[in-house]
Amino acid sequence: MRFDEFSLHPKLLGALSHLAFDEPTEIQKLSIPLILASKDVAASSKTGSGKTLAFLLPMVQRLLTSRVLGKRGPRALILAPTRELAKQVHAQLRLLIAATSYKSALILGGENFNDQAKALQRHPHIVIGTPGRIANHLQERSLFLDGLELLILDEADRMLDMGFANELKQIHDAADHRLRQTLMFSATLGHTDFEALSTVLLQSPQRISVGQEF
Ligand code: ADP
Ligand code: MG
Repeated sequence: MRFDEFSLHPKLLGALSHLAFDEPTEIQKLSIPLILASKDVAASSKTGSGKTLAFLLPMVQRLLTSRVLGKRGPRALILAPTRELAKQVHAQLRLLIAATSYKSALILGGENFNDQAKALQRHPHIVIGTPGRIANHLQERSLFLDGLELLILDEADRMLDMGFANELKQIHDAADHRLRQTLMFSATLGHTDFEALSTVLLQSPQRISVGQEF
């Protein structure tokens, strides 16, 4: 199948043709329709299988087509375990939103807190960050999640292995009760903590697994 068989916004299809990506990978084929149908999703497939676009494409599509809830704060928040992985997600996001009016902010541990607080005051629509620093901004009230529509945990298994379970729960709890959708992606299936966290954070989760035995 081809990307243009999903009913994606012309701006997204334009970005994809710019990237010269015609065909979705397996994980993209399975997760894009479920996310567009507003499901909470727990997905796993191996490293390099295209998980980033599997959540970024339907995320931007949902932002482009849904009504804004927000009073304060970003509409979407993506968490990644390391600075490097967060930067990679941010780079792909920037390509996808280049033709839109959306602004994004990258909020990483190890960088100047006050500069980040200023960036957050400029009302980015989408925030990408590492869990510890995002939790700090919530504590310091330089970040509010009252208007959050989508929460995405990329490499959730690694974030758990790094000891971020509490931060992930705190961040989820800080989101307004109107939070529409939570998505969790991982490389490994059968990670006990991943299953446990899915049960806590996701509502009637749809599970997707590519290339691994159940
Ligand atoms: P993962 O998160 O599963 O490890 P990534 O999202 O980082 O994988 O994708 C791995 C590589 O595959 C990236 O360079 C990405 O640009 C590329 N890629 C993603 N989707 C497609 C596609 N549909 N067609 C071709 N290349 C793709
Ligand atoms: Mg990835």
